[in-house]
Order: sequence, then structure tokens, then C-alpha cells
Amino acid sequence: MKIKLSLSVSALLLSFSVTAQTDDSAAIRKIVNDIMNNAKAYDNLRYLCKKIGPRLSGSSNAQKAVEATARMLKEAGADTVYLQPCMVPHWIRGEKETGYVQLAGAAKHPLKLCALGNSYGTGKKGVSAAVVEVNNMKQLDELGLANVLKGKIVFLNFAMNQTYIEVFNAYGESGVARWGAPTVCAKYGAVAAMVRSLSINPDDYPHTGVTSYNDSFPKIPAVAISTNDADWLSSQLKRKMKLTAFLQTNCQMLPDAPSFNVVGEIKGSEFASEIITVGGHLDSWDLAEGAQDDGAGVVQSIEVIRAIRASGIKPKRTIHAVMFMNEENGGRGGSKYLELAKKNKEQHLFALETDAGGFTPRGFALQMNDQQFEKVLRWKPLFYQYGVYNFSRGGAGADVGHLYELGTALAGLAPDTQRYFDIHHAATDVFENVSRRELHLGAANMAALIYLVDKYGL
Ligand SMILES: [Zn+2]
Repeated sequence: MKIKLSLSVSALLLSFSVTAQTDDSAAIRKIVNDIMNNAKAYDNLRYLCKKIGPRLSGSSNAQKAVEATARMLKEAGADTVYLQPCMVPHWIRGEKETGYVQLAGAAKHPLKLCALGNSYGTGKKGVSAAVVEVNNMKQLDELGLANVLKGKIVFLNFAMNQTYIEVFNAYGESGVARWGAPTVCAKYGAVAAMVRSLSINPDDYPHTGVTSYNDSFPKIPAVAISTNDADWLSSQLKRKMKLTAFLQTNCQMLPDAPSFNVVGEIKGSEFASEIITVGGHLDSWDLAEGAQDDGAGVVQSIEVIRAIRASGIKPKRTIHAVMFMNEENGGRGGSKYLELAKKNKEQHLFALETDAGGFTPRGFALQMNDQQFEKVLRWKPLFYQYGVYNFSRGGAGADVGHLYELGTALAGLAPDTQRYFDIHHAATDVFENVSRRELHLGAANMAALIYLVDKYGL
């Protein structure tokens, strides 16, 4: 009897969950269809890329993007749109950089190069020195301790590992060449750092990105050169060719500038004090239009607001679509969002970031406790028909990552990454390299996850 009873209870529970899944499947299908047919994300991205362009923190274009996305959020149907003031680093590239390699007794080989973000310039005179190639951090220390790097330009040739199928892992491993190694070169007396671009493709474009300094050591100039130039230079050095390099960069760090996060809000109907955030970053590097990084994430987040409105859903919880400022070279927008959340004693239930490009969505990286993780996994089958299977633990993103200290459950949209680093931080990150369909499919899956978290909590 007892067994029979518990069997019928579980049958009842099962039928509940099957009904819920059917309802949810239909509701999600409605949202997805609306986005695939009526989304404004692609048109909004065209505006950000073509009418505004590069949006480096502190620039007048970044301010134009603040105003434009505030307007887009209103048009999308947000109840209220407001700005969160924050001070941001104001780095400028100045006049275009130049550089070349001089082989003894041969013509100069001009380099495709750019200064790294936040780096110090060489000044008008430039820097000229012999070049030493280094392939990893261990070798950098060995050569540094042997006093081989003093007075040299250090060529940090940390090629991204082609065998890693998840390209973000290759970026994470080789990225230290850009964000950590230049200051170690300075520690060992080098006069400049020349970094192989963090592209996994052979190409002629320098890929910029942020570097950092340690106040205990001199602040030496740091540049990126294209992967093709890096391969050529490495081959010359392997042939023991006698050579020097010349670099001239004009960048400088100006005093911090005022800027803003942009927040579009839909007030919750039942649990208004519980906040669900969806966001991307509004700033971009200066060499291109910041289309995939992260114009795509910005317009996808705005699209979630539009789709919720268009589908007639009344969220129980409060939804924030946030355009974070300064992810690329300071992260000030993300830390301001956390600071205000603490100050205003806000309750942040969940935050979803999209900053890995607007490519075909494959899944979500989930940064949350076991109980929440199990709950999200139960929703997984609802996503299969949209080609989204990969629900695994991982870092959600740099902007929403700040909320982790509040105990907020975090997620990051995980699109296909095979082509992201071909264009990441390079002149090729333009609107033409974004697929309308892939962009909208990403937004559709984000909206589906937000719908489920809002309906069931976490
Ligand atoms: Zn980004």
C-alpha cells in the first residue's frame, strides 16, 4: 500500500513536470519565433558599428553609444532606462604606430603592429634594439635571470595551441604574453615588449588588448605584431640572422574620464525586489567597430527586453538589461554595478553575460552552487531543438563576475568559438563579420533562459 501510494505520488509529480515542460516548450517556441522573425538586434548592431564605430572608454564615441543604447532600450519597451555614472581610464592611441625589422645588409621589413591597450608610448624617437624571442613564461624567467634580456626588445612569441578545441582555453594560456609578460620583461631590463597577436589564424592584422604594469618596474612600451609577421620574425631568428627592430608608438593614458553603464529595467510583477540581469559591454577597442566584441552582446541583451515585451510575458522578477562600460581596459562598469547593488541593498538572483561573440549558440557556462546547477540542468532538454546542448560549469564573464561575491548565480552565453579569435580586438571585428541569423539565435536562447529563471527562480 505504502509502495503504491508513493508510486502514484511520483507519477503525479512526473505528470506535473511533463505538463510544465510542454507549457514551457510552447512559451519558449513563441519567444524564439518572435526573435527569429522580428528581432531588432541586427539593425541595432548596424547602428552601433556604422553610425558610431569604435567605442573606446572615455571617447566621444563611447558617450554616443551610451545615448544610442538608452534610446534602443526605451524602444525595446523597458519601463525605465537610467545611467550609472562611473569614472573610466582614458587611454588614447594617438598617431598610427610604425615599426620594422632591419636585417643586416637587407631592406627593412615593415611590421603590422599596434600598441597594446593601456601601454606607454615610445615617444617620437622610438625604440631600437636587438630582438630576443621567448616562447613561454618559464623561458622568460630563465633568460631574464641569465641577463640576456637587458637592453633588448623581447619578442613574446606564445602561439595559441591549435590542438585545443575550445579556443578560449588557448587564449587563456597564451594571453599571459599580452597581459602579464611585458611587465616581467621590464623587470629584467628589456626596453620594449613585442607580443605575437592572440589570433589562432595566420593573418596580417595586429590584435590589440589590454596589458598591465607593475609600479615596481619601468613602464616599457608594448606592441602586438600580426601572426604572419611573428612567424616570419621567428624564422629569421632561427636562421641566426643578425637583426634589430624599431618601434614607435604615440599612445598615452589621460586622466580618468566620466562615463556610464546603461540600465534598462522591466519591473517584476510578483517578486520585484529580486533582480535578474542580462548584459554585454558597450565599450570596444579602437581598431574596429567592436561588432562581435561586444556590440553583439549589447544588442542581444536589448533584444531580450524587446522579446519579453513582444511575447506578452509579465516577468515576476525585475529584469535589468545592462550595457556595461569599460570591460576592455579597466572593468570599472562591472565594479560600479556591484558597488551600487551593495549600496542599495539589491537582491541579485541571477546574471547572464554575453561577451564571447554573436556566433551560433552552443550552450551556457554556469557559475553557481550545486543546487542551482542541478535545477538549470533539468531545463536542458528545452534547448535541444535550438541546437544548444552544452551546459557546463565555467566562468560567466568579467562584468557579471563582480556579482559573485553577493552569491548571485551567474551564466555566460557560450557560442561556437572557432572564428572568434580570428577577429578579436583586430580591424576585422566589423559588422560584416556578424551573421544576422547566428546573432538572433543567441538572443533567442538567452531570452529562453531568462524566461525560465524568472518563472521558477533559482
Ligand atoms: Zn569583450
